[in-house]
Amino acid sequence: MKEQQRSELSDLGEFGLIDILTKNIKLKNKSSRLGIGDDAAVIGEGDRVTLVSTDLLVEGVHFDMSYTPLKHLGYKAAVVNFSDIYAMNGIPEQITVGLAVSNRFSIEALEEIYEGILLACESYNVDLVGGDTTSSLSGLFLSLTVIGTAHKDEVVSRSGAKENDLICVTGDLGSAYMGLLVLEREKQVFKANPNMQPDLEGLDYILERQLKPEARKDVKKMLKGIDVKPTSMIDISDGLASDIMHICKASDLGCNIFTDKLPIDPTTMTVAAEFQIDPNTAVMNGGEDYELLFTISQGDYEKIKDISGISVIGHMTEASAGMNLATPDGKLIALQAQGWDGLKNNLEHPDGENPA
Ligand code: ADP
Ligand code: MG
Repeated sequence: MKEQQRSELSDLGEFGLIDILTKNIKLKNKSSRLGIGDDAAVIGEGDRVTLVSTDLLVEGVHFDMSYTPLKHLGYKAAVVNFSDIYAMNGIPEQITVGLAVSNRFSIEALEEIYEGILLACESYNVDLVGGDTTSSLSGLFLSLTVIGTAHKDEVVSRSGAKENDLICVTGDLGSAYMGLLVLEREKQVFKANPNMQPDLEGLDYILERQLKPEARKDVKKMLKGIDVKPTSMIDISDGLASDIMHICKASDLGCNIFTDKLPIDPTTMTVAAEFQIDPNTAVMNGGEDYELLFTISQGDYEKIKDISGISVIGHMTEASAGMNLATPDGKLIALQAQGWDGLKNNLEHPDGENPA
């Protein structure tokens, strides 16, 4: 009898596994314009194309029931799903929801999750058009598929960046991760002494970034308004390091990112100091910011440089120059993707990987 080979998931990580499972896939249909490897697939044959993306959230891996309000969970699940459509420069229009639950959950609890999903659908103008429901032996699983639309010429993938393009990012980074650290700290304090009140004063912003993030539905219009089309784009779900690496790999380029250009909120700075962590680490490896990371051609710099809420943080280089962080004193540090790779890290990290 032939001996079965057994390879361990822990040696591979999420992206390695996806590569192995999908390496032999060849697209057969003309309508399958862009398959695996981007924030969403692009399908359809006409001028308007359809964008599709799925996220799966698992209790204990993606969220912790002890501090995640259920309404927020539903809201976040939907919003991070929409974010993948904005990352393609599209507009989300429908979602379907797959739900697996154990009898530990009451009907009221599930209604709360739905309230959150529907609130997100309301504020992002998305219709919930279907799904599936089943029981689970352990915990809650939430799978969302979003369907979006764009004109075929508007779609922006991860692979279109060119050498010397400028790297831009919306909003600020690292806050969601600092919010998570605060929530984890308060959970430990509460475990040790259930009579302690959580110490969350002045931390609304970073807690909201973690528990109730928003997707950048405004960016498509903003860029159109100044006549800039990104050459590549991705949403920041796993941390700047991991996500710029996706753009570099898909575009076959390297990058230099300047640490003194990274946009960081003052609260994030203060809390990082309290936790004695380098705020740049939260930016590079924290994740869950759901901001948009994109590249533009150098010629568009004048149009973008004074737009508030967009930071130019670096530029693309040839692949052989590698992917680097540049410090103000001129040092180059090779980027390490220590993003939240669920299959590798969820034993080390309390909250596993990130959705979207
Ligand atoms: P994102 O972080 O933007 O949601 P992922 O990192 O989850 O993207 O996925 C990367 C790419 O791999 C996407 O194009 C996604 O559709 C694809 N993918 C992920 N898991 C699977 C799977 N099990 N089978 C096929 N494709 C997958
Ligand atoms: Mg994404």
